[in-house]
Amino acid sequence: MGAALIDGKKIAAEIRAEVRRDHDTLRSRHGVTAGLAFVLVGNNPASESYVRSKEKACRELGFHSVTERPPADSTTGALLDLIGRLNADPAIHGVLVQLPLPAQIDEQRVIEAVDYRKDVDGFHPINIGRLVIGLDCMKPCTPAGIQELLVRSGNDPSGKHVVVVGRSNIVGKPVMNMLLQKAPGANAVVTIAHTGAKDLAAIVREADIVIAALGRPGAIHGSMLKPGCVVIDVGINRIPDPAAPGGTRIVGDVDFPSASQVASAITPVPGGVGPMTIAMLMRNTLRAAQWALSSR
Ligand code: NAP
Repeated sequence: MGAALIDGKKIAAEIRAEVRRDHDTLRSRHGVTAGLAFVLVGNNPASESYVRSKEKACRELGFHSVTERPPADSTTGALLDLIGRLNADPAIHGVLVQLPLPAQIDEQRVIEAVDYRKDVDGFHPINIGRLVIGLDCMKPCTPAGIQELLVRSGNDPSGKHVVVVGRSNIVGKPVMNMLLQKAPGANAVVTIAHTGAKDLAAIVREADIVIAALGRPGAIHGSMLKPGCVVIDVGINRIPDPAAPGGTRIVGDVDFPSASQVASAITPVPGGVGPMTIAMLMRNTLRAAQWALSSR
């Protein structure tokens, strides 16, 4: 392997330590404990597991957290009422609705019902709009984590050609908009590719930095990369592996064995982007608590 590993666990731990320090200050100076509410609808096992990890992160930092568990057959109206109550609760600074929601619920209406100042996921159109025009906002956690990984690993995107593969609203589009800003830790020339690309390999080969967010296991092969590029693998895919405990294992969207021979630096899966997402959620929750204090 030629590439250096970009250690998401280590960088996420640094960020959590900063959040802890600033939260301790918020508590001791102002008597404010950051509060985060989770809305977990139904019994989707993956969603339950994600929320458990986020609750644990809250406990470790001394945040106040509550988990609301509306039943799987909840209506959009019932969820909007719940979100209205959480928006009005002064002990709650962040509201996170765990997605996906059951099919009968209007997901977009629910996202837009969260007070944008409590929108710690950064999915509200006000936050997305402010992100696009370069204003201070609550930034989506995974894209913000990718930016931190690049900067803190010594791979500042400024002046680099970044190719993002994938245009989802939660990863591809926001990370593109973040990295193209005329701002520290950004200022990149960004291309975004998707299934409409006629020759994906030719586009990816132009990149100094590749951000793979396709949801396709191992789709970005080392043969598609420019030698010395930096690779950020966002993918989390569970694939069958008879040799692994439980018969499955997690892989990214990048073919790690071949890519790590060509890239100069690469994130592993697991242990790359994944740990950053929760660290950035904790940072957003702290920011929401700080904003609430400054607008009292
Ligand atoms: P998504 O909503 O499924 O979007 C996938 C995007 O990739 C789409 O824009 C799609 O293009 C594009 N795409 C798919 N196959 C392609 C191909 N063969 N060539 C070019 N483009 C292709 O995915 P997502 O929610 O952004 O997630 C992407 C991956 O990141 C998943 O593995 C997910 O589990 C992972 N993820 C990880 C974290 C984390 O914390 N680490 C957070 C979020 C997501 P079209 O638009 O044309 O369909």
